[in-house]
Amino acid sequence: GEALDLLRDVSANQLKGGLPVEPARSRFFEGSVREALHASVAQADAEDAFFVADLGEVRRQFARWTALLPRVQPFFAVKCNPDPLVIGLLARLGAGFDCASKAEIQQVLREGTAASDVIYAHPCKPASHLRYAHAAGVAMMTFDNADELVKMSQIHPGAQAVLRVLADDSGALCQLGLKFGAAPEDTRALLATARRLGVDVVGVSFHVGSGCQNPAAFADAVQRARGVFDQAEELGFRPSLLDVGGGFPGHGDQSGLPFDVVAAALGAALDAHFPAAECGHVRVIAEPGRYFVASAYSLAVNVVARRRVMRADGPAFMYYVNDGVYGSFNCIMFDHQHPQPRVLTRRGRLVDDGDGPAPLYASSVWGPTCDSIDCIVPAGALPELLTGDWLVFDCMGAYTVCAASRFNGFKISDVVYVDTESTPF
Ligand code: PLP
Repeated sequence: GEALDLLRDVSANQLKGGLPVEPARSRFFEGSVREALHASVAQADAEDAFFVADLGEVRRQFARWTALLPRVQPFFAVKCNPDPLVIGLLARLGAGFDCASKAEIQQVLREGTAASDVIYAHPCKPASHLRYAHAAGVAMMTFDNADELVKMSQIHPGAQAVLRVLADDSGALCQLGLKFGAAPEDTRALLATARRLGVDVVGVSFHVGSGCQNPAAFADAVQRARGVFDQAEELGFRPSLLDVGGGFPGHGDQSGLPFDVVAAALGAALDAHFPAAECGHVRVIAEPGRYFVASAYSLAVNVVARRRVMRADGPAFMYYVNDGVYGSFNCIMFDHQHPQPRVLTRRGRLVDDGDGPAPLYASSVWGPTCDSIDCIVPAGALPELLTGDWLVFDCMGAYTVCAASRFNGFKISDVVYVDTESTPF
Protein backbone atom coordinates (compact mmCIF):
# COMPACT_ATOMS: atom_id res chain seq x y z
CA GLY A 1 0.00 0.00 0.00
CA GLU A 2 2.67 2.43 1.04
CA ALA A 3 4.76 1.72 -2.03
CA LEU A 4 1.74 2.32 -4.25
CA ASP A 5 1.16 5.66 -2.51
CA LEU A 6 4.73 6.56 -3.28
CA LEU A 7 4.27 5.63 -6.93
CA ARG A 8 1.06 7.68 -7.10
CA ASP A 9 2.62 10.74 -5.44
CA VAL A 10 5.65 10.65 -7.66
CA SER A 11 3.55 10.14 -10.77
CA ALA A 12 1.44 13.17 -9.85
CA ASN A 13 4.60 15.20 -9.40
CA GLN A 14 5.88 14.07 -12.74
CA LEU A 15 2.68 15.16 -14.43
CA LYS A 16 3.18 18.60 -12.91
CA GLY A 17 6.87 18.77 -13.63
CA GLY A 18 7.22 16.98 -16.93
CA LEU A 19 10.06 14.70 -15.84
CA PRO A 20 11.56 12.31 -18.37
CA VAL A 21 10.05 9.07 -17.07
CA GLU A 22 6.50 8.60 -18.30
CA PRO A 23 4.25 7.80 -15.35
CA ALA A 24 1.78 5.73 -17.37
CA ARG A 25 4.51 3.20 -18.03
CA SER A 26 5.68 2.92 -14.42
CA ARG A 27 4.33 -0.32 -13.04
CA PHE A 28 4.42 -1.63 -9.50
CA PHE A 29 4.59 -5.35 -8.89
CA GLU A 30 3.73 -6.94 -5.53
CA GLY A 31 6.43 -9.59 -5.08
CA SER A 32 10.12 -10.34 -5.37
CA VAL A 33 12.52 -9.29 -8.12
CA ARG A 34 12.50 -12.84 -9.43
CA GLU A 35 8.69 -12.97 -9.51
CA ALA A 36 8.55 -9.61 -11.27
CA LEU A 37 11.02 -10.83 -13.91
CA HIS A 38 9.12 -14.06 -14.43
CA ALA A 39 5.70 -12.43 -14.61
CA SER A 40 6.89 -9.72 -16.98
CA VAL A 41 8.48 -12.06 -19.53
CA ALA A 42 5.48 -14.40 -19.35
CA GLN A 43 3.17 -11.72 -20.78
CA ALA A 44 1.92 -12.64 -24.21
CA ASP A 45 3.41 -9.65 -26.05
CA ALA A 46 6.57 -9.34 -23.91
CA GLU A 47 9.49 -8.17 -26.01
CA ASP A 48 10.83 -4.80 -24.78
CA ALA A 49 13.79 -4.81 -22.44
CA PHE A 50 12.87 -3.65 -18.91
CA PHE A 51 14.38 -2.99 -15.53
CA VAL A 52 13.12 -4.41 -12.26
CA ALA A 53 13.93 -1.90 -9.52
CA ASP A 54 13.75 -3.03 -5.91
CA LEU A 55 13.01 -0.05 -3.69
CA GLY A 56 13.55 -2.38 -0.72
CA GLU A 57 17.21 -2.67 -1.66
CA VAL A 58 17.49 1.14 -1.59
CA ARG A 59 15.92 1.08 1.89
CA ARG A 60 18.37 -1.60 3.06
CA GLN A 61 21.30 0.43 1.74
CA PHE A 62 19.99 3.48 3.59
CA ALA A 63 19.71 1.48 6.82
CA ARG A 64 23.26 0.12 6.35
CA TRP A 65 24.56 3.62 5.86
CA THR A 66 22.90 4.95 8.99
CA ALA A 67 24.24 2.02 11.03
CA LEU A 68 27.83 2.24 9.80
CA LEU A 69 28.27 5.98 9.23
CA PRO A 70 25.92 7.60 11.76
CA ARG A 71 27.81 10.92 11.68
CA VAL A 72 27.49 11.33 7.93
CA GLN A 73 24.27 12.50 6.27
CA PRO A 74 24.05 11.05 2.75
CA PHE A 75 23.16 13.48 -0.04
CA PHE A 76 22.22 11.16 -2.94
CA ALA A 77 24.03 12.11 -6.17
CA VAL A 78 21.00 12.54 -8.43
CA LYS A 79 23.05 12.17 -11.63
CA CYS A 80 23.63 8.51 -10.85
CA ASN A 81 19.97 7.58 -11.29
CA PRO A 82 17.33 10.33 -11.24
CA ASP A 83 14.47 7.81 -11.02
CA PRO A 84 11.62 9.77 -9.40
CA LEU A 85 10.70 6.83 -7.18
CA VAL A 86 14.22 6.55 -5.83
CA ILE A 87 14.40 10.29 -5.25
CA GLY A 88 10.98 10.26 -3.57
CA LEU A 89 11.92 7.34 -1.32
CA LEU A 90 15.29 8.76 -0.30
CA ALA A 91 13.70 12.15 0.41
CA ARG A 92 11.22 10.47 2.74
CA LEU A 93 13.98 8.52 4.46
CA GLY A 94 15.77 11.80 5.27
CA ALA A 95 18.53 11.93 2.68
CA GLY A 96 19.72 15.17 1.18
CA PHE A 97 20.67 15.52 -2.49
CA ASP A 98 23.74 16.38 -4.53
CA CYS A 99 22.53 18.17 -7.65
CA ALA A 100 24.62 19.15 -10.66
CA SER A 101 22.14 21.30 -12.59
CA LYS A 102 18.97 23.37 -12.44
CA ALA A 103 16.79 20.43 -13.53
CA GLU A 104 18.18 18.19 -10.81
CA ILE A 105 17.56 20.87 -8.18
CA GLN A 106 14.02 21.36 -9.46
CA GLN A 107 13.40 17.63 -9.27
CA VAL A 108 14.45 17.21 -5.63
CA LEU A 109 12.69 20.38 -4.46
CA ARG A 110 9.50 19.07 -6.06
CA GLU A 111 9.83 16.01 -3.82
CA GLY A 112 9.61 18.28 -0.80
CA THR A 113 13.31 18.36 0.03
CA ALA A 114 14.34 21.42 2.04
CA ALA A 115 16.72 23.75 0.19
CA SER A 116 19.16 23.29 3.08
CA ASP A 117 19.33 19.58 2.25
CA VAL A 118 20.56 20.28 -1.27
CA ILE A 119 24.14 20.88 -2.30
CA TYR A 120 24.79 22.24 -5.77
CA ALA A 121 27.91 20.10 -6.12
CA HIS A 122 29.30 21.29 -9.42
CA PRO A 123 32.37 23.52 -9.28
CA CYS A 124 31.67 25.08 -12.71
CA LYS A 125 28.07 26.29 -12.97
CA PRO A 126 26.26 28.01 -15.87
CA ALA A 127 25.12 31.48 -14.79
CA SER A 128 21.46 30.71 -15.48
CA HIS A 129 21.54 27.64 -13.24
CA LEU A 130 23.24 29.62 -10.49
CA ARG A 131 20.54 32.30 -10.81
CA TYR A 132 17.93 29.59 -10.38
CA ALA A 133 19.68 28.20 -7.28
CA HIS A 134 19.64 31.70 -5.82
CA ALA A 135 15.93 32.12 -6.49
CA ALA A 136 15.17 28.66 -5.06
CA GLY A 137 17.14 29.31 -1.86
CA VAL A 138 19.76 26.64 -2.53
CA ALA A 139 22.88 28.14 -1.01
CA MET A 140 25.39 25.31 -0.47
CA MET A 141 27.58 24.93 -3.54
CA THR A 142 31.06 23.84 -4.46
CA PHE A 143 33.81 25.79 -6.22
CA ASP A 144 37.44 25.09 -7.08
CA ASN A 145 38.56 28.15 -9.04
CA ALA A 146 38.66 31.93 -8.73
CA ASP A 147 36.38 32.68 -11.70
CA GLU A 148 33.61 30.69 -10.07
CA LEU A 149 33.99 32.81 -6.93
CA VAL A 150 33.53 35.98 -8.99
CA LYS A 151 30.40 34.50 -10.59
CA MET A 152 29.02 33.48 -7.21
CA SER A 153 29.68 36.91 -5.68
CA GLN A 154 27.79 38.57 -8.54
CA ILE A 155 24.89 36.16 -9.00
CA HIS A 156 24.44 34.46 -5.65
CA PRO A 157 25.31 36.72 -2.74
CA GLY A 158 24.66 34.58 0.30
CA ALA A 159 26.17 31.49 -1.31
CA GLN A 160 27.58 29.02 1.21
CA ALA A 161 30.70 28.13 -0.70
CA VAL A 162 32.37 24.76 -0.27
CA LEU A 163 35.94 24.47 -1.53
CA ARG A 164 36.38 21.23 -3.48
CA VAL A 165 39.93 20.00 -3.11
CA LEU A 166 41.81 17.35 -5.05
CA ALA A 167 41.84 13.86 -3.61
CA ASP A 168 43.98 10.90 -4.58
CA ASP A 169 41.72 9.16 -7.09
CA SER A 170 44.42 7.00 -8.65
CA GLY A 171 42.64 3.83 -7.55
CA ALA A 172 39.18 4.75 -8.87
CA LEU A 173 37.23 3.52 -11.91
CA CYS A 174 36.34 7.10 -12.88
CA GLN A 175 38.93 9.68 -11.95
CA LEU A 176 37.36 13.09 -11.48
CA GLY A 177 40.50 14.95 -10.41
CA LEU A 178 41.45 15.42 -14.07
CA LYS A 179 38.62 17.92 -14.29
CA PHE A 180 37.80 19.22 -10.80
CA GLY A 181 39.40 19.95 -7.46
CA ALA A 182 41.76 22.66 -6.22
CA ALA A 183 45.40 21.60 -5.90
CA PRO A 184 46.91 21.85 -2.38
CA GLU A 185 49.18 24.72 -3.45
CA ASP A 186 46.16 26.77 -4.63
CA THR A 187 43.75 26.49 -1.72
CA ARG A 188 45.12 29.34 0.39
CA ALA A 189 44.99 31.83 -2.50
CA LEU A 190 41.45 30.74 -3.35
CA LEU A 191 40.34 31.24 0.23
CA ALA A 192 41.95 34.70 0.23
CA THR A 193 40.10 35.55 -3.02
CA ALA A 194 36.83 34.43 -1.47
CA ARG A 195 37.52 36.66 1.51
CA ARG A 196 38.23 39.65 -0.72
CA LEU A 197 35.04 39.06 -2.73
CA GLY A 198 32.93 38.60 0.38
CA VAL A 199 32.02 34.98 -0.44
CA ASP A 200 31.45 32.92 2.69
CA VAL A 201 33.38 29.65 2.60
CA VAL A 202 31.46 27.29 4.88
CA GLY A 203 33.38 24.11 4.25
CA VAL A 204 35.47 21.71 2.23
CA SER A 205 34.58 18.86 -0.13
CA PHE A 206 36.43 16.22 -2.11
CA HIS A 207 35.67 13.22 -4.31
CA VAL A 208 37.96 10.17 -4.22
CA GLY A 209 36.69 9.12 -7.67
CA SER A 210 33.69 7.05 -8.60
CA GLY A 211 34.19 3.34 -8.10
CA CYS A 212 36.98 3.98 -5.59
CA GLN A 213 38.86 0.74 -4.90
CA ASN A 214 41.05 2.07 -2.12
CA PRO A 215 39.55 2.82 1.32
CA ALA A 216 42.74 4.62 2.37
CA ALA A 217 41.90 7.34 -0.20
CA PHE A 218 39.02 8.47 2.03
CA ALA A 219 41.25 8.68 5.09
CA ASP A 220 43.92 10.59 3.18
CA ALA A 221 41.35 13.02 1.77
CA VAL A 222 39.84 13.71 5.22
CA GLN A 223 43.30 14.59 6.47
CA ARG A 224 43.84 16.96 3.52
CA ALA A 225 40.43 18.53 4.14
CA ARG A 226 41.44 19.13 7.76
CA GLY A 227 44.42 21.13 6.52
CA VAL A 228 42.17 23.30 4.33
CA PHE A 229 39.74 23.77 7.24
CA ASP A 230 42.67 25.11 9.25
CA GLN A 231 43.69 27.46 6.43
CA ALA A 232 40.12 28.76 6.19
CA GLU A 233 40.03 29.39 9.94
CA GLU A 234 43.34 31.25 9.76
CA LEU A 235 41.81 33.53 7.13
CA GLY A 236 38.84 34.32 9.34
CA PHE A 237 36.21 31.87 8.04
CA ARG A 238 34.23 29.63 10.40
CA PRO A 239 33.93 26.44 8.32
CA SER A 240 31.19 24.09 9.50
CA LEU A 241 30.69 21.62 6.63
CA LEU A 242 32.76 18.64 5.58
CA ASP A 243 31.54 16.93 2.41
CA VAL A 244 33.28 13.60 1.86
CA GLY A 245 31.87 13.18 -1.66
CA GLY A 246 30.94 9.97 -3.46
CA GLY A 247 32.91 6.91 -4.50
CA PHE A 248 31.26 4.41 -2.14
CA PRO A 249 30.87 0.90 -3.56
CA GLY A 250 27.53 -0.48 -4.63
CA HIS A 251 26.31 -3.59 -2.84
CA GLY A 252 27.85 -6.62 -4.57
CA ASP A 253 29.91 -4.45 -6.95
CA GLN A 254 32.37 -6.10 -9.29
CA SER A 255 35.08 -4.16 -7.42
CA GLY A 256 34.44 -6.49 -4.48
CA LEU A 257 35.24 -3.75 -1.97
CA PRO A 258 32.77 -4.07 0.91
CA PHE A 259 31.08 -0.92 2.19
CA ASP A 260 31.89 -1.75 5.81
CA VAL A 261 35.63 -1.58 5.05
CA VAL A 262 35.21 1.88 3.49
CA ALA A 263 32.96 3.02 6.34
CA ALA A 264 35.50 1.87 8.94
CA ALA A 265 38.36 3.72 7.22
CA LEU A 266 36.30 6.89 6.79
CA GLY A 267 34.82 6.74 10.29
CA ALA A 268 38.28 6.38 11.87
CA ALA A 269 39.63 9.33 9.84
CA LEU A 270 36.68 11.50 10.89
CA ASP A 271 37.27 10.60 14.53
CA ALA A 272 40.97 11.41 14.19
CA HIS A 273 40.71 14.72 12.32
CA PHE A 274 37.21 15.96 13.20
CA PRO A 275 36.58 14.43 16.65
CA ALA A 276 32.91 14.68 17.54
CA ALA A 277 33.66 16.23 20.95
CA GLU A 278 35.49 19.22 19.44
CA CYS A 279 33.72 19.40 16.09
CA GLY A 280 30.08 19.32 17.13
CA HIS A 281 29.51 22.37 14.93
CA VAL A 282 30.74 20.54 11.82
CA ARG A 283 28.03 18.94 9.69
CA VAL A 284 29.45 15.96 7.83
CA ILE A 285 27.75 15.00 4.59
CA ALA A 286 28.56 12.66 1.67
CA GLU A 287 27.42 12.41 -1.96
CA PRO A 288 26.94 8.69 -2.60
CA GLY A 289 25.39 7.75 -5.92
CA ARG A 290 26.28 4.21 -6.95
CA TYR A 291 26.04 3.01 -3.34
CA PHE A 292 22.26 3.42 -3.13
CA VAL A 293 21.13 2.21 -6.52
CA ALA A 294 23.61 -0.14 -8.22
CA SER A 295 22.29 -3.36 -6.71
CA ALA A 296 18.65 -2.27 -6.75
CA TYR A 297 18.19 -2.62 -10.53
CA SER A 298 18.24 -5.68 -12.77
CA LEU A 299 17.83 -5.33 -16.52
CA ALA A 300 16.08 -8.02 -18.58
CA VAL A 301 16.82 -8.04 -22.31
CA ASN A 302 15.22 -10.05 -25.08
CA VAL A 303 17.17 -11.93 -27.74
CA VAL A 304 15.66 -10.36 -30.85
CA ALA A 305 17.98 -12.13 -33.28
CA ARG A 306 20.88 -14.52 -33.29
CA ARG A 307 23.57 -15.73 -35.63
CA ARG A 308 25.23 -19.14 -35.48
CA VAL A 309 28.83 -19.12 -36.66
CA MET A 310 31.06 -22.12 -37.26
CA ARG A 311 34.51 -21.82 -35.73
CA ALA A 312 37.44 -24.21 -35.77
CA ASP A 313 36.61 -25.24 -32.19
CA GLY A 314 32.88 -25.72 -32.81
CA PRO A 315 29.74 -23.60 -33.11
CA ALA A 316 29.56 -20.15 -31.54
CA PHE A 317 26.61 -17.79 -31.17
CA MET A 318 26.11 -14.07 -31.57
CA TYR A 319 23.01 -12.82 -29.76
CA TYR A 320 21.40 -9.46 -30.56
CA VAL A 321 19.37 -8.01 -27.68
CA ASN A 322 17.14 -4.96 -27.37
CA ASP A 323 19.13 -2.70 -25.05
CA GLY A 324 22.74 -1.85 -25.71
CA VAL A 325 25.72 0.42 -25.38
CA TYR A 326 23.78 3.40 -26.77
CA GLY A 327 21.10 2.66 -24.16
CA SER A 328 21.44 1.37 -20.60
CA PHE A 329 24.75 -0.35 -21.30
CA ASN A 330 26.43 3.01 -21.85
CA CYS A 331 27.94 2.09 -18.47
CA ILE A 332 30.41 -0.06 -20.43
CA MET A 333 31.82 3.08 -22.08
CA PHE A 334 31.32 5.75 -19.43
CA ASP A 335 31.53 3.75 -16.22
CA HIS A 336 34.04 1.07 -17.24
CA GLN A 337 31.69 -1.77 -16.31
CA HIS A 338 31.71 -5.37 -17.56
CA PRO A 339 28.09 -6.50 -17.12
CA GLN A 340 27.62 -10.26 -16.92
CA PRO A 341 24.43 -11.95 -18.11
CA ARG A 342 22.51 -14.74 -16.51
CA VAL A 343 19.97 -16.78 -18.43
CA LEU A 344 16.34 -16.13 -17.55
CA THR A 345 14.72 -18.27 -20.25
CA ARG A 346 16.24 -20.98 -22.40
CA ARG A 347 14.44 -22.27 -25.46
CA GLY A 348 11.37 -20.41 -24.27
CA ARG A 349 11.32 -21.92 -20.76
CA LEU A 350 12.14 -20.17 -17.49
CA VAL A 351 15.44 -21.44 -16.14
CA ASP A 352 15.08 -22.70 -12.60
CA ASP A 353 17.81 -23.10 -10.01
CA GLY A 354 17.06 -26.83 -10.14
CA ASP A 355 17.76 -27.15 -13.89
CA GLY A 356 20.65 -29.43 -14.76
CA PRO A 357 23.73 -28.03 -16.50
CA ALA A 358 23.37 -27.25 -20.21
CA PRO A 359 26.28 -27.34 -22.67
CA LEU A 360 27.96 -23.96 -23.00
CA TYR A 361 29.02 -22.34 -26.28
CA ALA A 362 31.29 -19.43 -27.06
CA SER A 363 28.84 -16.52 -27.20
CA SER A 364 28.84 -12.77 -27.68
CA VAL A 365 25.98 -10.42 -26.83
CA TRP A 366 25.31 -7.33 -28.95
CA GLY A 367 23.04 -4.30 -28.59
CA PRO A 368 20.30 -3.50 -31.12
CA THR A 369 21.90 -0.68 -33.13
CA CYS A 370 23.76 -0.92 -36.43
CA ASP A 371 27.07 0.06 -34.84
CA SER A 372 29.66 -2.62 -34.06
CA ILE A 373 30.81 -0.69 -30.98
CA ASP A 374 27.43 -1.73 -29.57
CA CYS A 375 28.76 -4.90 -27.94
CA ILE A 376 27.73 -5.88 -24.41
CA VAL A 377 29.64 -9.15 -23.92
CA PRO A 378 32.47 -9.65 -26.42
CA ALA A 379 33.39 -13.19 -25.38
CA GLY A 380 31.32 -15.24 -22.97
CA ALA A 381 29.99 -18.74 -22.52
CA LEU A 382 26.23 -19.34 -22.62
CA PRO A 383 23.92 -22.27 -23.24
CA GLU A 384 22.24 -22.17 -26.64
CA LEU A 385 19.46 -19.58 -26.68
CA LEU A 386 16.75 -19.02 -29.26
CA THR A 387 15.34 -15.78 -30.58
CA GLY A 388 12.78 -14.68 -27.98
CA ASP A 389 14.79 -15.91 -24.98
CA TRP A 390 15.66 -13.54 -22.12
CA LEU A 391 18.90 -12.62 -20.36
CA VAL A 392 19.20 -10.66 -17.10
CA PHE A 393 21.99 -8.34 -16.02
CA ASP A 394 22.04 -7.59 -12.29
CA CYS A 395 23.54 -4.57 -10.55
CA MET A 396 22.46 -2.18 -13.31
CA GLY A 397 21.15 0.76 -11.25
CA ALA A 398 24.11 3.15 -11.38
CA TYR A 399 25.01 5.30 -14.38
CA THR A 400 22.88 3.30 -16.81
CA VAL A 401 19.42 4.51 -17.81
CA CYS A 402 20.28 8.12 -16.84
CA ALA A 403 22.67 8.44 -19.79
CA ALA A 404 20.80 6.24 -22.28
CA SER A 405 20.06 7.58 -25.78
CA ARG A 406 17.45 6.68 -28.39
CA PHE A 407 20.05 6.19 -31.13
CA ASN A 408 18.67 4.26 -34.14
CA GLY A 409 15.13 4.76 -32.85
CA PHE A 410 15.36 2.28 -30.00
CA LYS A 411 13.47 3.12 -26.83
CA ILE A 412 14.82 3.64 -23.33
CA SER A 413 13.95 0.65 -21.15
CA ASP A 414 10.99 1.00 -18.78
CA VAL A 415 11.07 0.17 -15.09
CA VAL A 416 8.91 -2.27 -13.12
CA TYR A 417 9.10 -1.55 -9.39
CA VAL A 418 9.02 -3.95 -6.47
CA ASP A 419 9.60 -3.28 -2.80
CA THR A 420 10.98 -6.31 -0.98
CA GLU A 421 11.25 -4.38 2.29
CA SER A 422 8.03 -2.47 2.56
CA THR A 423 8.35 -1.57 6.22
CA PRO A 424 6.71 1.75 7.09
CA PHE A 425 8.97 4.76 7.42
N1 PLP B 1 29.51 13.81 -6.31
C1 PLP B 1 30.05 14.30 -7.46
C2 PLP B 1 30.46 15.72 -7.48
C3 PLP B 1 30.20 13.47 -8.57
O1 PLP B 1 30.73 13.96 -9.70
C4 PLP B 1 29.78 12.12 -8.49
C5 PLP B 1 29.92 11.20 -9.62
O2 PLP B 1 30.44 11.48 -10.65
C6 PLP B 1 29.19 11.68 -7.29
C7 PLP B 1 29.09 12.55 -6.22
C8 PLP B 1 28.69 10.27 -7.10
O3 PLP B 1 29.71 9.37 -7.12
P1 PLP B 1 29.45 7.84 -6.77
O4 PLP B 1 28.35 7.35 -7.63
O5 PLP B 1 30.76 7.20 -7.07
O6 PLP B 1 29.12 7.75 -5.32
